[in-house]
Amino acid sequence: MTADPLVERMRAFGTTIFTEMSALAVRTGSINLGQGFPDTDGPPEMLAAAAAALREGANQYPPLPGIPALRKRITEHEQRFWGLSRDPDTEVVVTAGATEAIAAAILGLCEPGDEVVTFEPYYDSYAASITLAGAVRRPVALRPGIGPQGRYGFDEAELRAAFGPRTRLVLLNSPHNPTGKVFTRTELTLIAELCQEYDAYAVTDEVYEHLVFTDAAEPHTPLATLPGMHDRTLRISSAGKTFSCTGWKVGWATGPAGLVSTVQRVKQFLTFVNAGPLQPAVAVALGLPDTYFTEFRAGLQARRDRLVTGLTEAGFAVQPSEGTYFVTADITPLAGSTIDGADFCRQLPERCGVVAVPTQVFYDHKQEGRHLIRFAFCKREEVIDEAARRLAKLAAGG
Ligand SMILES: *Cc1c(COP(=O)(O)O)cnc(C)c1O
Repeated sequence: MTADPLVERMRAFGTTIFTEMSALAVRTGSINLGQGFPDTDGPPEMLAAAAAALREGANQYPPLPGIPALRKRITEHEQRFWGLSRDPDTEVVVTAGATEAIAAAILGLCEPGDEVVTFEPYYDSYAASITLAGAVRRPVALRPGIGPQGRYGFDEAELRAAFGPRTRLVLLNSPHNPTGKVFTRTELTLIAELCQEYDAYAVTDEVYEHLVFTDAAEPHTPLATLPGMHDRTLRISSAGKTFSCTGWKVGWATGPAGLVSTVQRVKQFLTFVNAGPLQPAVAVALGLPDTYFTEFRAGLQARRDRLVTGLTEAGFAVQPSEGTYFVTADITPLAGSTIDGADFCRQLPERCGVVAVPTQVFYDHKQEGRHLIRFAFCKREEVIDEAARRLAKLAAGG
C-alpha cells in the first residue's frame, strides 16, 4: 500500500490555507482577518424562525429540491432584485451551500477532459471540483489596475484564447472573491458572446449578490439577464454571506429545468438533502424588506472603509474593493520585491498580531498573485479598529 491513500488527482490539494492561517491566529493570539466569516449573527427574524422550526418538528428529510416555501421565496427574491423569472417547481434546487451546487454542477456537466473557463484568483473549491470531475481548468488572470477605472480587469485576448472546442462551461464569480471585483456589463457581454459562440454553459457564483458598494464601477448584473443567457446559465447563491450565517450551508441553484435537474441528480447522492429546520428560516430571510439588504451593505461598506484606511496608513498599496467581504493589498511597498505574500502572511502574526491570507494560493499561475494578500472586513468595527492599530506598527518599521 502507498503511504498516502488519497487518489492521485487530489494530492496537489493539501490543507487549505484557511486551516493553516486560522491555526496560526489561535497559536499567536492574532486577529483573524484571514477567513471570511462574520463575527455577528444574522437577522433576528431568521434566527427566531429557525428556533421555531426546530421546536415545531421540521426535523426530518425535506423534499429533494428543497421545501416549497423556500423555493418560492428564492424565485420571488430573484424577480424582486434582478427581474429574473424562474418556476419554483422545476427551476430551483436547494443545496448544501453554494459549494455543493458548484460541485454538483461541475460533476454533472463535465466529461473527463472537458474544459472549464474561470478567472484566477478563484474560490478554492473550484479547482478541486474541476479536478474531481476529471475536467481541465482554463484560468484567465484578473490583474490589478487593468480594469475599468484602474480596478481589477482581464485581457480580452487571454479570455478568447481560453475558449476552445472542449469548453463545456464558464464558471464566473461576480462579485468576486478575493479581489472584490464586480464584473461590468461590457465584460459580461463578452463572456456571454463567447459562451454562445462555443455553445458553453455558464455557472455563476453570486453569493455576494447583495454586497456591491455604492462606489463600485457598476451595480451587480447577473449574467443570466444578458441576451441569450437565460437558457444556458445556472445561477448559484447562498444564505451564508447575505444573512451572516456561513455555518448553515443553505445554498441554491436556479436556471433552466435541464441544468437544475443535472444538479439535483448529482446532489441526491452527495447529501440528498440538508438543513431541514433552516430552510423555513432562510425563506423568511429572503422575504425581508429592501431596507435589510441596503443596511447590510452600508454596514459592510463602512467597515471596508475603516480597514482600507488602516491598511493604507500601514503602507500597503490597497486595491479597490467594489464588493464582497474582502479587500486585497499589494505588499511590495512594505516588503520589497524579494519576499512573497505567503512568507509575508506567515510572518505577519509575529510582527503585529494580524492574520491575512496570501492570494497566490488561488491561482494556477502563482506569480500573478505573489505580491497580493487578502483581508476580510466582515468583522465588528472594534475588531477592525484594533487590527488597524496593530498594522500601524508596519509603517513604523515593526
Ligand atoms: C463563501 C463562498 C462560497 C461558499 O458558499 P457556501 O454557501 O458556504 O457553500 C462560494 N463561493 C464564494 C466565492 C464564496 O466566497
